[in-house]
Amino acid sequence: MHSLLFPLIFAAGLSSCRLFETPAIPPEPLHIHVLSVGQGLSVLLEQNGKFALFDTGPGGAGLEDTLRNRGIDTLEWIAFSHSHLDHTGGFFDLAAPIRQKKLHIRQIYYSAGENRTLYGDSALRQAQNSGIRTGERRQFDTLAWAAPHQFKILYPPPYENTNENAASLVLQISNGEYSALLTADLETPGEKSLLATFPSLKTDLLQVGHHGSNTGTSFAFLSKIQPGEAVISAGKRNPHGHPAPEVLQKLSLILGDTSKISRTDTEGTVSFTLSPAGLWKRKQ
Ligand SMILES: [Zn+2]
Repeated sequence: MHSLLFPLIFAAGLSSCRLFETPAIPPEPLHIHVLSVGQGLSVLLEQNGKFALFDTGPGGAGLEDTLRNRGIDTLEWIAFSHSHLDHTGGFFDLAAPIRQKKLHIRQIYYSAGENRTLYGDSALRQAQNSGIRTGERRQFDTLAWAAPHQFKILYPPPYENTNENAASLVLQISNGEYSALLTADLETPGEKSLLATFPSLKTDLLQVGHHGSNTGTSFAFLSKIQPGEAVISAGKRNPHGHPAPEVLQKLSLILGDTSKISRTDTEGTVSFTLSPAGLWKRKQ
């Protein structure tokens, strides 16, 4: 071959190869299932066969069955927002499948800002006795997950060391375009502190704090973060009257449409899909 022709043919070959480049595969969407666990909170996260739990709901709410029925044998992690039984109790129901090696949990995260209750201590002890790694998390930490989703802890602040609801881990899930905010049992003082640190915080989906109690979800908080969808986890006819009528009223005003308020007490498990194309509620 003529020595001048070869580079020309080689370059032509390279450019024609570009025609056959495979297009970028869009990332798998993330599914956010706010489980029907009665009066408590448990959010199952799912992406491309990977699963994790933000809180486990109260004991006896059927978490073990839920995981088995969905064919889940591995959880990347469980994050406990705080150690109240309505958020940690379901973990004790998982003792048998963990012992029988039917359920594998890679990691447990818990709030670093909490003076833990006895339940929290015994959940962590049970996890450690089962050989599960445990680690504390606080503001600015992240939880492991696959791209493009980022799991960032926005609360509690580094200096905080407090009790119960006020120590709630707040988790922001974002794919760079759309986001969800899980606030666990955060109440109004925590909302203020959160906005002081993240004044431009916005969210597409809000898990309404403290089961819709009137101790949280202030108008100031809602009007700042401007959720597009809201979901409340509460038990059917619970004795606390959650969600409070005034919280529902504030949500209606901000969301502009009551169909954007989802409730586990009236609908059962509520699922959303978060993708770079948007956030939408899934039909069960
Ligand atoms: Zn709670």
